[in-house]
Amino acid sequence: MVILGSHCSMKAPKFLLGSVEEALSYGSNALMIYTGPPQNTLRKPVEALRADEAKELLRKHGITMDKMVVHAPYIINLGNCVRQETYELAVDFLRKELDRVQAIGAKYLVLHPGSYTTATLEEGMDQIVKGLNEVLCEKDEVILCLETMAGKGSEIGFTFEQIRSLIDRTNYSEKLGVCLDTCHIHDAGYDVSDFDHLLQQFDEIIGLDRLKVMHINDSKNIRGAKKDRHANLGEGQIGFDALAKAVHHEKLQHVIKILETPWIGDHAPYAIEIDMLKRSQYDAHALDALKNK
Ligand code: FE
Ligand code: FE
Ligand code: ZN
Repeated sequence: MVILGSHCSMKAPKFLLGSVEEALSYGSNALMIYTGPPQNTLRKPVEALRADEAKELLRKHGITMDKMVVHAPYIINLGNCVRQETYELAVDFLRKELDRVQAIGAKYLVLHPGSYTTATLEEGMDQIVKGLNEVLCEKDEVILCLETMAGKGSEIGFTFEQIRSLIDRTNYSEKLGVCLDTCHIHDAGYDVSDFDHLLQQFDEIIGLDRLKVMHINDSKNIRGAKKDRHANLGEGQIGFDALAKAVHHEKLQHVIKILETPWIGDHAPYAIEIDMLKRSQYDAHALDALKNK
């Protein structure tokens, strides 16, 4: 069975319990959350997040806690070698976040590798490696998944070679995995419609065993645009069939697939998109109906 879910909210008063309820309402058997607002680093103590109740509800549905993926906030930047405070905040936050994720009982933490800002790509790469080496410990049970990026601005991690290099140069590299975002790699120039070839490239350069999480998103822009604007499935430049093929690929059955497609008005599209993916059948009417709701 495909492991499929979406980004879910995590907010008072139900916190993680509410996240799991939301995921189940979409027909998901996986989910992704932030441990607090994605745009800042303020975090509640783990004890307040109702993780045990969330775990129990998942268990009742035959779902284990490793299917709850956590995404690090996008403002933390390990690649910043221009502003020391930004880098130090990233190191400090990431260290605490790994502990939080472990305390919650989750297994995978997704991280945008970083941006080099006004420095060079190489300097940014060096800084990320330095950061990962400061952060990762032998005792970590959580796998930190570096996300493939679109290459917008000075983002690092928009080629498989860059991801490979970061992994190779990190001391506790066994603590690292990869999150493949279909919108991002399309925007970076990879051809998602030729998915077998894409996986072959991934396997040769990074190794398929590193692939733990996938973000399933269509893209508003043409291949290579380096924009990173997610589209609903079948409404972008990748197309539904290519994404459905990726989701059901026989070599990726163990990989957790997470939708990060945009809401339509006040409505989450995830129940519809998950149903479409399960059936491998695009349904433009169902998405249209949400627009007019
Ligand atoms: Fe991301
Ligand atoms: Fe993503
Ligand atoms: Zn994105």
